[in-house]
Amino acid sequence: MSYQMLIDGNMVSTEFWLDVVNPATGEILARCPRADAAIVEQAVAAASRAYPEWSRRSYDERSAKLRQLADLIEERADQFARLLTEEQGKPLEQAAFEIAGAIYVLRTFAEMRLPPETLRADGNSQVVEYRGPLGVVAAITPWNFPVLLLMNKLAPALLTGNTLVVKPAPTTPLTTLLFGEVCADVLPAGVVNIVVDANELGGILTSHPSIAKVAFTGSTATGKKVMAAAAESVKRVTLELGGNDGAIVLDDVDTASAAKHLFDGAMLNAGQICVAIKRAYVPSSMYDAVCEELARLANAAVVDNGMHQGVQIGPVQNAAQFAKLKDFLADAAEHGTIIAGGHALDRPGYFIAPTIVRDVSDDARIVREEQFGPILPVLAYDDIDEVIARVNDSDYGLAGTVWGKDLDRANAIASRIEAGTIWVNQHLAIDATIPFRGAKQSGLGGELGIEGLKEYTQARIVNSVSLD
Ligand code: NAD
Repeated sequence: MSYQMLIDGNMVSTEFWLDVVNPATGEILARCPRADAAIVEQAVAAASRAYPEWSRRSYDERSAKLRQLADLIEERADQFARLLTEEQGKPLEQAAFEIAGAIYVLRTFAEMRLPPETLRADGNSQVVEYRGPLGVVAAITPWNFPVLLLMNKLAPALLTGNTLVVKPAPTTPLTTLLFGEVCADVLPAGVVNIVVDANELGGILTSHPSIAKVAFTGSTATGKKVMAAAAESVKRVTLELGGNDGAIVLDDVDTASAAKHLFDGAMLNAGQICVAIKRAYVPSSMYDAVCEELARLANAAVVDNGMHQGVQIGPVQNAAQFAKLKDFLADAAEHGTIIAGGHALDRPGYFIAPTIVRDVSDDARIVREEQFGPILPVLAYDDIDEVIARVNDSDYGLAGTVWGKDLDRANAIASRIEAGTIWVNQHLAIDATIPFRGAKQSGLGGELGIEGLKEYTQARIVNSVSLD
């Protein structure tokens, strides 16, 4: 299979190449073409040319295109899911779930509208808010959910009349390029353009005078650079950044169910989820029992190539992340007690054994920093006010969870956590109709829901009065 970028309606190759590695084998999965600065310019110019006509179309016309994109992905869902597992590493079932989620996002946004809103109308005067598109949007995505996180940006951007230049992460460009083939069949030339880089071209997009908005998902460190670059021309930005989500287990939950929820929430996608459970807080009275059960689950987990049947945890996505996690494991071994895992698997590919760390202090790296891997530090607490303060003592504020039988008590505790989303007795209940945004250094602006749609528009107030 050969891959090409989508520029101005054409599938194009270049003489520069990027090797994409299968993280389950460490072998090269595919070579794909890569852009240079001149190709990025062509992509931005094509998106700018396509904008006037696309933005003049009606919501209904653009919505029909979103539905067509969804239908064509659905027809090729198996191909998308397999390629996603091969380039990203996640188990095939989870890849299929991500593709289904992407289709759902396209179809859900296709139903949304932003009609003019009358803010005031009295006698002979009225104030009406209209919302129009911004222009060319740069959509920059990370490697943990390359398809889903792209759709969270592309669907609202296209529906509201913007055109796009898309840049996937260098280690997971293939599913985005496959999606480019779908776009080429459905959309007018230039409405969506896709460029691949080796981590060096994002800055051109974020500082480009013809880009009106940057929709970015990635690390907080890169998000700060995006924000700084966008400042020059006061671009709109949405930043979906890192997280270090705490989970609070209350003392009325039974041990086995608490451990199961914590384990699943920490280990899905090999822990590479912005809203994964990254620190677990358990009452002292339950601490030994929950730790023991977590260790049992970790030792029993099936870790293997995501293409194999029954696999729970695949490899981590890339060599840099693999090296970073081994560093975290060394630090965790020094500052805590590892009761399961704690090492890379002795086989090709980037496999980390699911790891549980106990007896670790609040200031250990594995607790304070976002590890983004299948490692869960477990901490004990004695007092609710104290544990809320410990969870909130972070520069991040993406999400969090509270687990408790007494729902009123759990909800009251959840409302005191400084994060954009707090789930009670559930995890990852993300939906295209519910706004998602990070607090503190976890983000700026938001995605999904009507609020997420508005992020791709400029509000214009028309304030009129009759001359009579
Ligand atoms: P990253 O910041 O390294 O890269 C993200 C994207 O930015 C990639 O496409 C990369 O090529 C590009 N990029 C790199 N330098 C750039 C620059 N100077 N200007 C513009 N773009 C640049 O992030 P990652 O390692 O790919 O992803 C993991 C991170 O993403 C984690 O921190 C995770 O928590 C976060 N994340 C957040 C959310 C959310 O919704 N809040 C969702 C998923 C992942």
